[in-house]
Amino acid sequence: MSQLAALYKKVGNGVRITDDDALRLFNEADLLTLGNLARQRACLFHPQDVVTFIIDRNINYTNICTSRCRFCAFYRDAESPDAYLLTADEILEKVSEAVSLGATQIMLQGGLHPALTLGYYQEVLQKIKQRCAVSIHSFSPPEIVHLANVSHLSIADVLRQLRDAGLDSLPGGRRGNTF
Ligand code: SF4
Repeated sequence: MSQLAALYKKVGNGVRITDDDALRLFNEADLLTLGNLARQRACLFHPQDVVTFIIDRNINYTNICTSRCRFCAFYRDAESPDAYLLTADEILEKVSEAVSLGATQIMLQGGLHPALTLGYYQEVLQKIKQRCAVSIHSFSPPEIVHLANVSHLSIADVLRQLRDAGLDSLPGGRRGNTF
């Protein structure tokens, strides 16, 4: 049995893979096989074969970003003619629209804006929570780290203050990190 075939068997049997195994799968497995393996693992965790979903809306509150990731076609410099930053009221309007269509969760994500401090985020979160019954699952870890730097606060303080303003959870790789 080839090393790759042995690895497929390992995944299918529910054995935890190592970093090296993951790298081998990433580099050598074809996409359909990877998808099939992922499905097998999901069935091991959830054999009842039930798939659930929620209705949510992603709202990108700004495309201004200092990170300039090479793969990203979304970001703009602050001086760019099509750079934008949504106000709290504009965001609230989008949230209300989503809720009226059945959304129960909102995902706010944006660029690493050079000047936005905690007050903007607190206002947005508070306004949403005051007007709409939705879970706010928002902000990537890089946004949190950036906000901590711009606001001269620790990451823990930023998370605490965002939570107090209404943030329910952060998105993660496999599942959200609920406070
Ligand atoms: S941090 Fe996000 S928005 Fe900014 S450049 Fe990278 S991918 Fe694009």
